[in-house]
Amino acid sequence: MPIDATQPYDDDNIFAKILRGEIPSKKVYEDEHALAFHDINPQAPTHILVIPKGRYVSWDDFTAKADDAEIAAFIRAVGKVARDAGLVEPGYRLLANIGPDSHQEVAHLHVHIFAGRKLGPMLA
Ligand code: 5GP
Repeated sequence: MPIDATQPYDDDNIFAKILRGEIPSKKVYEDEHALAFHDINPQAPTHILVIPKGRYVSWDDFTAKADDAEIAAFIRAVGKVARDAGLVEPGYRLLANIGPDSHQEVAHLHVHIFAGRKLGPMLA
């Protein structure tokens, strides 16, 4: 069910539970600011989600409220996850859904990393 990206943060969202270790995930990276894990329903041979550890509903919420150091650390973490997974060549796609028109379903900011096949045109 798509969510409203302007809603208050809900600590019961599934990625908050993953961050608290209440439900399992296939972790690929973790640092002070970010956690990365495999998507449960992969849309490409490699489909990783990178999330900030802070309580942000969406990219909009994050870029409005997080301080510059937290934003920089998160963006660096996304790059590192892709680099460490060997995705820079032949390439990968980043995607963040924000709000109902984008079909954002989980109300904790997540950046998708897709790779491992030719991904084709941008929009479905
Ligand atoms: P959105 O549509 O919000 O951008 O993407 C949400 C993503 O989270 C989907 O690709 C979905 O497969 C993934 N997802 C939903 N629940 C879980 C879960 O419990 N574990 C993991 N690893 N991924 C999940």
